[in-house]
Amino acid sequence: MQDRPSTVHGFPLKPKFLMRTRQGDDFLNSWQLVGKLALTPILHYVATRILFSNMLNNQRKSNMLGSVKPLIVHVGGRDIEVWTKYSVRALRVRLTIQPGPRVVLTLPEGTHASTAMRFLQDHSDWLHHALGKARTTQSSVIGHFTKFPSLTFDHKWLSVEIRTAGRCTYKVKEADDVIMLFHTDDHPEESLMRVLRRVAQDGLEKAAQRIAKKVGVKIGDVSIRNQSTRWGSCSSSGSLSLNWRLILLPPAMHDHVILHELAHRIHMNHSERFWSQLEVWDPEWKRHDQELTKKWNVLMDLGR
Ligand SMILES: [Zn+2]
Repeated sequence: MQDRPSTVHGFPLKPKFLMRTRQGDDFLNSWQLVGKLALTPILHYVATRILFSNMLNNQRKSNMLGSVKPLIVHVGGRDIEVWTKYSVRALRVRLTIQPGPRVVLTLPEGTHASTAMRFLQDHSDWLHHALGKARTTQSSVIGHFTKFPSLTFDHKWLSVEIRTAGRCTYKVKEADDVIMLFHTDDHPEESLMRVLRRVAQDGLEKAAQRIAKKVGVKIGDVSIRNQSTRWGSCSSSGSLSLNWRLILLPPAMHDHVILHELAHRIHMNHSERFWSQLEVWDPEWKRHDQELTKKWNVLMDLGR
């Protein structure tokens, strides 16, 4: 069994791509490493100016320089965007790689620009290494279906065919095990997402009701969410929230998540009894759980 936050009864999975710098790094030694991070002079000038202007804004509690413009640094032969943000709670300068990958430099309030720049210089090797390991976002749903042209609708694994049309809709061709997704061609990504939300709403509602009936538990409303932190959750009143991305999983894993949430209708925790219950319904739950963790990275950035 994996580590699970005991207070969460949803489907918690930890984003494993989040990396942190080593604790207690002494960036005052960074001058020994100057030159490893080749900031071009102009970009260095711009970056320093942005940081300095943020220092001033910071007085007025402006918190997120990164939301305006990133710093551009040259690491390992390419230009990397580094988004900076000031944090009241941060105790030290921190560099993290978020999904995307998006590089974020978190600075305690009042950090001097030169300290931030030294920290970046000091951590250029780390950044280069970490970015090499970070996955690239596959944020396009159209791109996703080009690679993986299938989805689960209720209990069926269907081939996906995408067409442009006058409106956003879908059609299941049961006999051929095909689902046709029709999107408008003005904003293909957004309109395809609208179709997928509908497919998810209809398919997951049917699946949840079908599976609940099969295992003999009662559920309330089924709502479809675009959470990026969990596959699903179950309230004490029996309402299920399911991540629309479940339809992108093969039926066994799709059902596994629903069964997990249904097991919470009996045990509102992750106790031994909860897992025993799940094992009765889904004897291969451990394998499904592991597979699901692997899929996390690929799927959670889609449609955001
Ligand atoms: Zn749970």
